[in-house]
Amino acid sequence: MSFEFVQKLPTPAEIKDMFPLPARLAAIKAERDQEIRKIFTGESDKFLVIIGPCSADNEDAVLDYTTRLTKVQEKVADRLLLIPRVYTNKPRTNGLGYKGMLHQPDPEKQPSVSEGLHAIRHLHMKVLDETGFSTADEMLYPENVSYLNDIMSYIAVGARSVENQQHRLVSSGCDVPVGMKNPTSGDLSVMLNAVVAAQTGHEFIMREWEVKTHGNPLTHTILRGAVSKHGQCLPNYHYEDLILLYRLYQERDVKNRACIVDANHSNSNKQYMEQVRIVKEVLHSRRHSDQIREMVKGVMIESYIEPGSQKVGEHCYGKSITDPCLGWEDSERLLYEIAEGLD
Ligand code: PEP
Ligand code: MN
Repeated sequence: MSFEFVQKLPTPAEIKDMFPLPARLAAIKAERDQEIRKIFTGESDKFLVIIGPCSADNEDAVLDYTTRLTKVQEKVADRLLLIPRVYTNKPRTNGLGYKGMLHQPDPEKQPSVSEGLHAIRHLHMKVLDETGFSTADEMLYPENVSYLNDIMSYIAVGARSVENQQHRLVSSGCDVPVGMKNPTSGDLSVMLNAVVAAQTGHEFIMREWEVKTHGNPLTHTILRGAVSKHGQCLPNYHYEDLILLYRLYQERDVKNRACIVDANHSNSNKQYMEQVRIVKEVLHSRRHSDQIREMVKGVMIESYIEPGSQKVGEHCYGKSITDPCLGWEDSERLLYEIAEGLD
C-alpha cells in the first residue's frame, strides 16, 4: 500500500485529557442540549437558527462573529435558539481546495492534521467559553466525531456523505441532534433512509472498538436543494417540497419528524443574498400550514462578517473562503425578522 505514515495522532481520549472541557462549560452545553432537544421533541416551540460561516477558517473572525451573535441571541431568546456553525472540516466537490481547519489551521500554510486537531478543539471550546454557545459542525469523518462530541450541540451529515453507512451508524450513537442532508442528487429517500438508520441501534466498528448503539431519536432531515443531471440547481424549500417531505415522513416509523431548511447551497444556487427571501418563504409556509409548522424546526444560514466570498490569500477579514455568505448587517436584520415572522 502506498501510504506514507507521517505521524501517529493522539486519540480523542488523549486530546480530551490534554484539553479537558471545564465543568462550567460542560454545564452550559448540557443545558443548551436540553433546550435544543425540546425543540426537536416538540416540547418547545422555539425556532432553531444554525448560522455561521461556511467554513471556520480563522479563530479571531469566528470569535468576533459568534460574539456578535450573542447580543442578538439575548434579544430574541424567547423565540429563537441560535447555534453557531463552527465548521472545521469541509467536503470538497472534486476533492480539491481548502479542506477546513482540521487539515489546514492556517489556510495559507501547508496542511497539518496534528496541528489541526488541536486548533479545532481550541476553537470550539473558545467559542463556548467566550460566548456561551455550544456549536454545530459537520460530521465529515465519522471516526473524528469523538474529538469534539463533548462541545458540539448539533451535527450535520453533508450531502456527499449521507448515503454512507459509517456516517449513519455513528450518528445512531450521537446524543445530540444529527441533521441528514438530502444528497446532491436530491433523492429524498436517501435522506429519509439515513434518518431511519440513525434512529436504530447498531453494532459496528469504531476506532478499533466493537461498539453498540441504541439509536438517536433526534436524527432529522435537512433540505439543501439539489443539482440536476444538467447541472441546474433544483431548490427544495418551497411549500410543495415541504408538504411532500411531511407525507414521506408519515410513511416511515421515525421519531420526532423534523426538518431544517438550509437556505444556501443548492437552494440559493449560492446566491447568498437569496437566503433572506428563502428563509422568509419558509416562514410563510409555516404560517400557512400547521403540518409544516410542526415539521420545520429551523433554518440553516451561511453568514459571516463580510458578505460574499474571496479566494485564499485575499486577506479580507471575516469573508468566507468557501461558499459565499450573508454579511453581518443582513444577517442581524434577518435574525430579527425571523423572530418577528414566526407567527
Ligand atoms: C456546508 O454546510 O457548508 C456544506 C458543504 O453543505 P452540503 O453538504 O449541503 O453541500
Ligand atoms: Mn457551505
